[in-house]
Amino acid sequence: MSPGVSIQTFSFDESNNYLRLESTISELNLYDFQIESLCLSREVAREFEENPLLPGVILTEDGQLIGMISRRRFLERMSRPYGLELFLKRTLKSLYNFIKTDILIFSGDTLIVEAAQQALQRSPVLLYEPVIVEIAPQNYHLLDVHQLLIAQSKIHELASKLLTKLYQELEAANSELQRLATLDGLTEVSNRRRFDEYLTQQWQTLAREQKPLSLILCDVDCFKNFNDTYGHQAGDDCLKKVAATIAATVNQIIPGDLSLVARYGGEEFSVVLPTIDRECVVKIAENICSQVKQLKIPHRDSCCDPYVTLSIGVATLTPSREESPQTIIKVADLALYQAKETGRDRAIAYSPSLKINN
Ligand code: GH3
Ligand code: MG
Ligand code: MG
Repeated sequence: MSPGVSIQTFSFDESNNYLRLESTISELNLYDFQIESLCLSREVAREFEENPLLPGVILTEDGQLIGMISRRRFLERMSRPYGLELFLKRTLKSLYNFIKTDILIFSGDTLIVEAAQQALQRSPVLLYEPVIVEIAPQNYHLLDVHQLLIAQSKIHELASKLLTKLYQELEAANSELQRLATLDGLTEVSNRRRFDEYLTQQWQTLAREQKPLSLILCDVDCFKNFNDTYGHQAGDDCLKKVAATIAATVNQIIPGDLSLVARYGGEEFSVVLPTIDRECVVKIAENICSQVKQLKIPHRDSCCDPYVTLSIGVATLTPSREESPQTIIKVADLALYQAKETGRDRAIAYSPSLKINN
């Protein structure tokens, strides 16, 4: 290497895997090749030959930057007729006076995307000229534009991956939010809002299809006493267990997407069962009754059993457009009332002999 000439290249990760969205041009492969303008062009030709990746040379006068000659322009001049004879033995400055071009200078902390954007805005003749990076005051390095553009495309790739990931996370968070908005906070079965929505939806569909719709209403027996005896917290725990048992019993027989278990109100739960025949619905209701009793949650002050029990009303009917979903609720409620009246801890299905109170 010639005296006064320093060439430093940093090790460059070709895959650009180290890049981040906010990477700056100082993180790219920079070439430190600056030379006093009074040096001979021959020196530069030798350096270019020895360092095939050097994109150009920075010219200084008394250490001050005056310009840059790219490898491409340099070699192009030399390959012209008499180019070698004319310039090799002369100072770099005399060559520079012929091929002076506008230069683009960035500070080292410029973002890669910003630098690439500006580099691309140059006129087509200058498009592939290296840019100058001032990494410290009066300390200039060269950056190959090709490398700058590769880095930029890597960053675009990263940005689009990040956006896709963010979008997916947002979608997941949204659907989780939507799911939570339909659940009851305490028992984690569907909430009343979801129950109303589902019942109305099924009512309309089955009115059109003229198929049966069933509703099971479950009410914990003497639950006020339970709270009074064991406290509100124990009451909450009991409701959670009862809800989970109702859901598990129903799901064992009918898939979750063909039924809905919801908290209807305080200590009342509902099960909506579209298109299932009446006998099967009654079986499910009886199963719920016995499964909850099987939990053997002590209920010392119950009015009907030493353990927590349910009274259940069942309604099965074919919806009609003339009536509203309230009809089936009234019918199930009537059956539930009968279950309470006849001693609790039982499931009663509506039969026409039960009168609907309006
Ligand atoms: P019945 O057998 O006639 O249904 O009697 P009951 O005591 O169960 O009925 P009542 O309507 O008199 O009382 C219901 C009780 O349920 C009163 C209320 O404090 C309790 N309850 C309602 N929601 C909750 C809740 O979220 N947590 C707890 N711990 N208790 C609740
Ligand atoms: Mg009640
Ligand atoms: Mg009750």
